[in-house]
Amino acid sequence: MTVAVVGAGMSGLALTHFLAERGADVHTFEAAAEPGGVVRSKTVDGHVLETGPQRLRLSEPVQSLVETLDLEDELRYGHDDQPLFAYHDGQLRTMPLSVREAITTDLLSWPGKARVLLEPLTRGPQPEETVDGFLTRKFGAEAARRFMGPLYSGLYGSDPDEMYVEYSLGRALDHVGIERSILLYAARKLLEGVDPPSIVTFEAGLQRLPDAISEAHADTIELNTPVTSVERAGDGYLVHTEDETHAVETVAFTTPAPTTAALLDGVDPAAADVLKQFTYNPIGVVHLRSDFDGTGHGFHIIDDGFLTDGSTWNHSMLDRDGVFTSYVGSGDADALDADPAVIGRRAAEEFETVTGEPADVLDVSILRPGMPAYDRSWAALEDLSLPDGIEIAASYTSRAGIVGRIADGRQTAASIVEE
Ligand SMILES: Cc1cc2nc3c(=O)[nH]c(=O)nc-3n(C[C@H](O)[C@H](O)[C@H](O)COP(=O)(O)OP(=O)(O)OC[C@H]3O[C@@H](n4cnc5c(N)ncnc54)[C@H](O)[C@@H]3O)c2cc1C
Repeated sequence: MTVAVVGAGMSGLALTHFLAERGADVHTFEAAAEPGGVVRSKTVDGHVLETGPQRLRLSEPVQSLVETLDLEDELRYGHDDQPLFAYHDGQLRTMPLSVREAITTDLLSWPGKARVLLEPLTRGPQPEETVDGFLTRKFGAEAARRFMGPLYSGLYGSDPDEMYVEYSLGRALDHVGIERSILLYAARKLLEGVDPPSIVTFEAGLQRLPDAISEAHADTIELNTPVTSVERAGDGYLVHTEDETHAVETVAFTTPAPTTAALLDGVDPAAADVLKQFTYNPIGVVHLRSDFDGTGHGFHIIDDGFLTDGSTWNHSMLDRDGVFTSYVGSGDADALDADPAVIGRRAAEEFETVTGEPADVLDVSILRPGMPAYDRSWAALEDLSLPDGIEIAASYTSRAGIVGRIADGRQTAASIVEE
């Protein structure tokens, strides 16, 4: 079985790893000089900064990769027991992530809290429902707008009013087997005493994970080698790069939808047209240094008028001294076109407004295309039909998180080899 994997972000690396483990003859092409895609760590003024994800959960697929790659000693554990905040009505207020926080928080009114308890009486996701519509129907408008919507959209950098449940939250609910009540599921887990997997990163930053996978498969991964086109050849495909052509039986795309669409155009224009419809949200990531010593994982901003969507407190959650990461302008392409220095200054000012402490800008990155929007454009997924020998293993067709990317790589490798 010969397979070309296009892209060496977490999806492509996981797929490469599990294909090699199953004995496939795999060849992986990565356009950038480094593996990892959006998982990118750098050191600025002695601070380890993450321009993509800030941390991972050490769930089974991650744990087993970490053991295989012998990375246990490099793990850095985060503090699981810290609160997360919402900035609402000019104040930081605790998000109700535990029973005690649900009772004590002033983020929700008593009627708002009481409304949440009616959730088990409501139905599961309905066709064509938005995340905002779904959360409002289940938990009431107050909890949906001040707590669950911001919490969920913070993961995806998208507006809950624009996201379709079936392409985003619904997948996560399916994955854990929730058909109807999220509240009863959470209560059952609480009674069973099941803790979520630990929050982790690596001493050198999250990019250590893709770097280690890439090192383990160095003979099959070509960096600095963008795939320029793909064409059919008999029962298989020819994969072209600037300097070479590779004949393979299967091509697995792990690149963002616009890139995959351009490369598929020569193979299956109808499939390429479907992928062209998917929209992405660009996002700005501003790293700040501050003496703010609040304890918590960070905050989401609910109040209007801010460019900042939220902030991760790397200082508190991961003991990264003085480092705070603000996500800004998600989906606002015009705002993100501004001079990065202006975006950085605005993020620092808004951080001071929220926390009361000044901050200096360490770094500004603008990610494009950014996060898959999981909005109405995802309805196009229904029309996606791929020719034999073409696979897609990417964040826009299944779960976006790193754990989901590893699990998808394992599953796609199995189905390619079994076919
Ligand atoms: C800001 C941000 C924060 C996030 N936070 C979290 C988090 O806290 N926890 C979590 O679990 N997940 C998080 N995620 C999600 C997760 O990081 C991503 O979904 C996942 O890393 C995407 O990996 P990927 O390989 O599918 O895509 P990408 O990382 O986009 O990789 C695609 C790769 O394809 C390469 N490529 C492009 N064109 C070509 C070409 N022509 N030929 C060859 N290669 C090409 C690119 O260079 C890139 O390396 C976050 C994502 C972002 C953007």
